[in-house]
Amino acid sequence: SEVKGLKIEDAPLPRSKNLDVLSEFEKSESKKAASFVVVGHVDAGKSTMMGRLLLDLGVIDQRTVEKLRQEAEKIGKTSFALAWVLDQRVEERARGVTIDIATNRFETETTAFTILDAPGHRDFIPNMIAGASQADFAILVIDAGTGAFESGLKGQTKEHSLLIRSMGVSRIIVAINKLDTVDWSQERFDEIRHQVAGFLSATGFQAKNTTFVPVSGLNGDNLVRKSSDPAVSWYTGATLLEELENSEPNKRALAKPFRTTISEVFRSQQSPLSISGRIDAGSVQMGDAILVQPSGEKAYIKSILVDETPSDWAVAGQNVVINLSNIDPMHVRVGDIICDPAKPIPCVESFTLKALAFDFLMPMQVDVHRGRLHAAGKIESISALLDKVTGSVTKKKPKIVKPGMVARIVVKLGSKVPLEAGQRVVLRSGGETVAAGLLE
Ligand code: GDP
Repeated sequence: SEVKGLKIEDAPLPRSKNLDVLSEFEKSESKKAASFVVVGHVDAGKSTMMGRLLLDLGVIDQRTVEKLRQEAEKIGKTSFALAWVLDQRVEERARGVTIDIATNRFETETTAFTILDAPGHRDFIPNMIAGASQADFAILVIDAGTGAFESGLKGQTKEHSLLIRSMGVSRIIVAINKLDTVDWSQERFDEIRHQVAGFLSATGFQAKNTTFVPVSGLNGDNLVRKSSDPAVSWYTGATLLEELENSEPNKRALAKPFRTTISEVFRSQQSPLSISGRIDAGSVQMGDAILVQPSGEKAYIKSILVDETPSDWAVAGQNVVINLSNIDPMHVRVGDIICDPAKPIPCVESFTLKALAFDFLMPMQVDVHRGRLHAAGKIESISALLDKVTGSVTKKKPKIVKPGMVARIVVKLGSKVPLEAGQRVVLRSGGETVAAGLLE
C-alpha cells in the first residue's frame, strides 16, 4: 500500500466540491442506462450471440473477428470466432488493458447498455447470481435445434430462469436461437414459445414482461437487423435489439443511503486502490467518506469513473470505478459493501429469510450468495411454512421444506456479514442451488 513513500492510508484527504448530486444528475441529460444478463443452457449460443451483436453494432471491427476466425480455423472450429470476442475482452481485462465491468458495453441512440458478466465463465452460477442481482433484465437463450431444446429444458434453462427471477429480475427476453438449423420453422418456434411461456409463468414472470424473438446468433438474423431470409417472413415482430431498447430499466434507489457491492478490487498506475461495481442505492461524490463493511474501516473517495469516464459524482444504477484513499487495502475485498458512514449497512451473524425452496431444506450447511459475496453458514431453524400467494403462515416449525414451497428460515453465518432487510440472497449446498429469497 505504498505510493512514492507515502502509505495510501496516510495520504491527504481528498477535497469535496460539495455538489448537490441529485440535482447534478437531473441536469445531466444522460441516456437511459440499462444492464442485462445473458443466461441459458451451455452451448445454447450465448457467447456467439453477444459477439455477433457487438460486431453488427460496430463495437468490434471485422478485422478482429477475422483474426479470431483464423485462429479458430487452426483448431478446426471456425464457428468459435464470434464466441471468442467476449472471452478475448475478458482476457484483456485480466491483463489490465481495459478496465473492468464496463468492457462489454454498447450504446444505441436511446440507451447505454452493459452486458453484465460475460457468459461462459468457469464458475458460472455464482457469477450469474452476481450479475442477476444487478440486472435490469435478462436474455434467455434457447437452442431450437432438434433435441437441443428438450435437453436444455432438463438442463440449465429452468434453473437459470428460476435463479434470475429469485434475484429480482422481472423482465425477460427469450431469444429462440439457431432457428437456421431447423429451416426457420414457425411451428418449431411456436412449440418452444408455448412451452417456455408455460414454465416462465410458473416461475413468476408475468406474460407482459416476457417476449420471444426468433434469431440466429451465428448469422445475426433478427439481432440488430431484421432477417432477410424469406423462410422467416412469417415473423413481423421486433428484433432482439429493439426488444432491449423497449425494456424499462429498474427505478434507481436515489434517495436511499449509499450502498455498492464491490465486484472487483484492483490497482493501476493512476491509483493504488480501486474498486468497481454497480451502485445499488444512493449517490456519492469525490471527497466523500465511505465505510467498508464488514471491516468497519473508513476511506475517502479520491476519484470516480462512470462508464470509464471521469466524473465528480455517481448515482444508483451506474457502473463505477471508485478510487479510494486513506485506507489500508487489506480491509477492502470483493463482495464487501461500501456504504454511507452515517447510515451504514449492519453486519449480522444471522438473518431471517423468506425463501423459495428449490430442494429439500432442513437444518444443514449452506453457502450464502449475494452479489459477489459468498459466506459459509447453516440453516439453523425453519420457523414456518408460508402460503405462496398471501405469505401467511400455514404451518409452524416444520421439520423439512419440500422443493417448491415457501418458508421462513433462520440462517446462521460463520462470520459477520453485511446484510440488510430487502436484499435477495441465494443458498447453495454441494454446488447446487437449494433456495433463494428475501431478507426480512
Ligand atoms: P454458449 O455456451 O451458450 O456461450 O454457446 P456458444 O456461443 O459457445 O455456441 C455453441 C455452439 O453453437 C457453437 O459451435 C456456435 O457456433 C453454435 N451456434 C451458436 N449460435 C448459432 C446459430 O444461431 N446457428 C447455428 N447454426 N449455430 C450456432
